[in-house]
Amino acid sequence: MILPIVGYGDPILRKEAQPITADYPDLKQLIDDMFETMYAADGVGLAAPQIDRSIQLVVIGFRPYDEATDSYGDEEERHVLINPEIIEEVGEKQYFNEGCLSIPDIHEDVLRPESIVLHWFDENFVEHNEKIDGMFARVAQHEIDHLHGKVFTDRLSPLRKTMIKRKLNDVASGKVHPKYRMKRQNKR
Ligand code: ZN
Repeated sequence: MILPIVGYGDPILRKEAQPITADYPDLKQLIDDMFETMYAADGVGLAAPQIDRSIQLVVIGFRPYDEATDSYGDEEERHVLINPEIIEEVGEKQYFNEGCLSIPDIHEDVLRPESIVLHWFDENFVEHNEKIDGMFARVAQHEIDHLHGKVFTDRLSPLRKTMIKRKLNDVASGKVHPKYRMKRQNKR
């Protein structure tokens, strides 16, 4: 089932999401729904607060880029992150152009470490502690921000923030109409 996506300005995107346990109700169905929602909106990552659940759950899916052949692979790389925690930042920080399904029509270069050591549980609650890099590391960091009440535009320079302020206000007041369904803003 495709779920409506929460937009910038909704208070749930500013909350600290709660860790979950393996007995979280209907977890498998929720993960399936999140992947379906993400793919339908052409996203590469989705965090549970973006579908109005304040829990520490992230799905990631993309086709990896192969430098040797300068093309994208056919095989989809998929990850489920439950209760993820960044243990260490590794390597240089790099700029990469990011967007967010909760903030339609805004794309900005964001500076983040190219690799991280990440601790998480997968969809089977198998524990992982691995150094990850490339697209996986980039998307994971963006999505983990969502679990801590942060969005990518928070990481921009004061000048860039000023320049996109009006666009952000448009998103917050529901004046954007992406091709995927967004949740109507509650007046909370
Ligand atoms: Zn996002």
